[in-house]
Amino acid sequence: MSFHDKCAVVGVWNHPSASFLTYLSLYALQHRGQEGAGIVSLKDGKHLSYKNQGLVGDIFTKDKLDSLKGKGAIGHTRYSTTGLNELKNIQPLTWNLNGGPLSVAHNGNIVNHALLKKKFRIFTKGESDTECLLPLIKYYEDKDIGQSLLKALAQLEGAYSLVFLTKDSLIVARDPMGFRPLVLGQKDQAYIVASETCAFDLIGAKYLREIKAGEILIFNKKGMKSLFLPQAKKKAQCIFEYVYFSRPDSLVFNKSVYEKRKKMGEYLAKEHPVEADVVIPVPDSGIPAAIAYSQTIGIPYEMGIIRNHYVGRTFIQPSSLIRNFKIKIKLNPQAFVKGKKVVAIDDSIVRGSTSKALIEVLKTAGAKEVHLRVSSPPIKGPCYYGVDTPQKKQLISGQKESVEEIRQFIGADSLAYLSYENFLKIGNKKDFCLACFDEKYPTAIYN
Ligand code: SF4
Repeated sequence: MSFHDKCAVVGVWNHPSASFLTYLSLYALQHRGQEGAGIVSLKDGKHLSYKNQGLVGDIFTKDKLDSLKGKGAIGHTRYSTTGLNELKNIQPLTWNLNGGPLSVAHNGNIVNHALLKKKFRIFTKGESDTECLLPLIKYYEDKDIGQSLLKALAQLEGAYSLVFLTKDSLIVARDPMGFRPLVLGQKDQAYIVASETCAFDLIGAKYLREIKAGEILIFNKKGMKSLFLPQAKKKAQCIFEYVYFSRPDSLVFNKSVYEKRKKMGEYLAKEHPVEADVVIPVPDSGIPAAIAYSQTIGIPYEMGIIRNHYVGRTFIQPSSLIRNFKIKIKLNPQAFVKGKKVVAIDDSIVRGSTSKALIEVLKTAGAKEVHLRVSSPPIKGPCYYGVDTPQKKQLISGQKESVEEIRQFIGADSLAYLSYENFLKIGNKKDFCLACFDEKYPTAIYN
């Protein structure tokens, strides 16, 4: 699987250790972006900031966190989709408005950002789509920041879950279609906002509710106040959050990701059973679907492939010295697959190269047959809403005419995907974006 969600965002309000809680929440959300992270805190109307490239645990030392004083903070982890992985693109971004500093962190992608930059004559240092936001808010600057945001955000098209810090408030916003998740929690007198609820579990916060699609929620010394952007015709929550991006221990769009993945496995088993000796997941995201597949079909579940969790983003490759090195450094088959008919369960196939290598590795380990079952439909198109995806021509379903052709390419004994019809039982067309599966994009696309 090589789809990457762009980012995670966190906001903490009214806690003496706001930056520390932000750090811990970002730590829990590391799976949403591993290229860089940053925290901005609010102290006496000023913004204190630290950001860098790398993993959350490596970037922030105790001294750095101690220097980020104040009772309010926002944070971000990044996987770049728009804009290169450079320090200038790492968020939160900070701007000085007439009314004081404004910092922002963003998960999503503003699809009309190039048009907005042109229309509002916005010149930026970095390349990220998020950079159009602050000048836009400055353009609509009003004494009441809520009114500025209502006007500025109404100009945006696409996906945004945002956290802002001003000189005296934390403000969070979610686009009217609700592409990316954003949830609200409480810890004693403090409020926490995060991309997923697993952040709340780590810091002992209580989950209160989702930030609603189109909601702008302002926290300041007067309390908490909601404003709403004009309603969208339909919602477009990203179905891929259930397939792959979110942690299985999170509630996303108010539902358990783990249970959703198990349902996909159950439907897959009913639709595409196989006579085999053992069901094995492609770890980690294939695990819940494989458990349900095994339970539904009555074939034993085993951890047939062990994942090395300590593989960094880069390593020196031994050229052609070791066959399938790229896959073997991450995934290693167990000896018991020898002589077995194996059903491997994966969450999706993107380019097909990983599946092909994995099947070869399983066969080299002695598997008699390898049947691949995929718990989502074929991916047909790229994502424009904050996910790093290959172009259509690089997708295996964009290159091959049929499932049989894909099967031949990857070398499986059989291959089957969850049907689009059964997939719709996980997330219906009215509330979800399914565009990478059906190419029905819920907004205009500006290339
Ligand atoms: S195109 Fe796919 S990955 Fe992108 S938002 Fe829609 S469902 Fe999610």
